[in-house]
Amino acid sequence: MPNKGLRIGLGFDVHAFAKDRKLILGGVEIPHYQGLDGHSDADVLAHAVADALLGAIRGGDIGKLFPDTDPAYKGADSLVLLSAVADLVRERGYEILDIDCVISAQAPKLSPHREAMRENLARAMKIDAENIGVKATTTEHLGFEGREEGISAEAVVLLDRCC
Ligand code: MG
Repeated sequence: MPNKGLRIGLGFDVHAFAKDRKLILGGVEIPHYQGLDGHSDADVLAHAVADALLGAIRGGDIGKLFPDTDPAYKGADSLVLLSAVADLVRERGYEILDIDCVISAQAPKLSPHREAMRENLARAMKIDAENIGVKATTTEHLGFEGREEGISAEAVVLLDRCC
């Protein structure tokens, strides 16, 4: 059966913890003794969502769009990058129907920040916060997330051709 225009996208990202960095997830600055390392603000959740959107429009990835060798993106607010990716999705003729995400982090506890993350991401993409889910899990002390060496995030998106 022909696909009438639905597209799915999957995004995954990892950033390592580093001292003297802020921890920013979904645009929320979360109090913690260490933050994530990266060329931009290292918002691993925003990066996973952006890559899922780009995957769905076969648009490459954020590393290609916003290279970490480009000084323009040093310290960049990843919500601004995500907003540009969402605009690109619409330019390609797709609307964002639904998004779900999971952050894997042993610490800190992220559930108190979940609603703020959803609202920030939704605002950046100009979608309703009802259409984005954010969950967090520990990895039961297993793997790099469990050893508190870094945080990973995954996102899936569903797009539909709109015009
Ligand atoms: Mg990244």
